[in-house]
Amino acid sequence: MRKIQMVDLKVQYQEIKEQVNQSVLDVIESTAFINGPEVHQFQEELEEYLNVKHVIPCANGTDALQIAMMGLGLQPGDEVITADFTFAATVEVIALLGLTPVLVDVDPVNFNIDVEAIKKAITPKTKAIVPVHLFGLAANMDEIMELAEDNNLYVIEDNAQAIGGTYTSKDGTKTKTGAIGHVGSTSFFPSKNLGCYGDGGAIFTNDDDLAHTIRGIVNHGMYVRYHHDVVGVNSRLDSIQAAILRAKLPKLDTYNAARRNAARKYSKALKGIQNIVIPTGYCEAENSVCDVCDCHVFHQYTLRILNTDRDALVNHLNENGIPCGVYYPIPLHLQKAYKDERYNEADFPVTNQLIKEVISLPMHTELDDEQIEFITKTIINFVATS
Ligand SMILES: *Cc1c(COP(=O)(O)O)cnc(C)c1O
Repeated sequence: MRKIQMVDLKVQYQEIKEQVNQSVLDVIESTAFINGPEVHQFQEELEEYLNVKHVIPCANGTDALQIAMMGLGLQPGDEVITADFTFAATVEVIALLGLTPVLVDVDPVNFNIDVEAIKKAITPKTKAIVPVHLFGLAANMDEIMELAEDNNLYVIEDNAQAIGGTYTSKDGTKTKTGAIGHVGSTSFFPSKNLGCYGDGGAIFTNDDDLAHTIRGIVNHGMYVRYHHDVVGVNSRLDSIQAAILRAKLPKLDTYNAARRNAARKYSKALKGIQNIVIPTGYCEAENSVCDVCDCHVFHQYTLRILNTDRDALVNHLNENGIPCGVYYPIPLHLQKAYKDERYNEADFPVTNQLIKEVISLPMHTELDDEQIEFITKTIINFVATS
C-alpha cells in the first residue's frame, strides 16, 4: 500500500508538471512578477468559473477577509457575528480591525454557523455576519441572507474551504459558494481545494462599487497613482502563483469530484457503525455523496466519534501510519486572544461537544481504494473494541 498522507500534493503536481513548470518559467522570463498578465487572466477565468462579476486577487485568505471588511466600511465598535467552531483567521481579522467579534454556536449536523444562534446574537450594533463554509459544505445561506436582509446586515462568506462548491437555494437556484453574500473571500493556501504553491487569496463580489473600493484598498488605497484616498494595504497575488492557479483552475471540478469520490467510499464503509457519525452530504436515497447537488467539496472529511476516547483513536491511527487531524480542538471563544466576559458557556453546547468528538481523515485527490479500506477498517476495529 502507498504511504497514506493527510494531503498529497505531489501526485497532483506530477500530472500538471510540464504546464506548471513552463508557465512559471514564462513568468520569470517576462519579469512581470507583480500584477502581470497572468494575474489578470486568472482573475477573469475565476470570475467566469464562479459566475461572479468581480474577483480581486490578494495575498492570502486572511487578507481577503480583512479587506472585505475594510471595503464594507465596518468601523470600530461594529459587531460582526461569526462561528465559534472554525479556523482563527475569521475572528482574527474582526478583532484586528477593532470590530467586535461575536462568536456563536454551530449546527451539529453541518458544523456551520447556527442560524438560531445568529438571531439571538443580533443587536443594534451588529453590522455583518461571516458564515464559514466549513470543511467544504455551504452554510444555510437562504436563512442567513434572509436574516441579513431583515436586519440590514452585510454577509461576508468565508469560502476558504469550499471553493468550487455549490449552494442550492430553496427555489432551486444553484450558486457557487462565495458568490452568494455581499462579498466572499477565499484562500489559495497549498492544501486548500484550489491551492497555489505559496500564499494566495481572493475576494469576490457582484457589487461594482464595492469591487472598485476593494481594488483600491489592496493597492495602498490608491485609485489614481500616488493619490491615496483611503488607508489601504499591500496585498497582491503574485504572477507566479497566478500562473500556477491558471493551470489548476480547469481541474478544480475534477479535483473536487475526486474528493467527493473518496468521501463516498469513506461514508459507505462507515455508515451505520455504532458511535460513528459520518458527515452530512451523504444522500441515503442516492447511496452516494450528493452527486445530485454537488454541494459538498470535502475540504475535510470529518467524523464525529461518540462514546469513545477520540484522542486515543488519533494515536491509534497514527501508530498505524494513518495521519489524521482534529479541526478544531479548541473553541474560539476559549482561545486566550478571543476570550470575553460576554460569552456564556451555556451558549456553546455544540462547539464544546464537537471539539471532543471530531476527527478529520486523510482527504485529497489521490486516495486509493486500498488506503480507504485500511483507514476505515482500522477506525471500525478501534471504535468497536474501546
Ligand atoms: C485557510 C483559511 C483561512 C485563511 O487563509 P490563509 O490563506 O491561510 O490566510 C481563512 N478561513 C478559513 C476558514 C480557512 O480555512
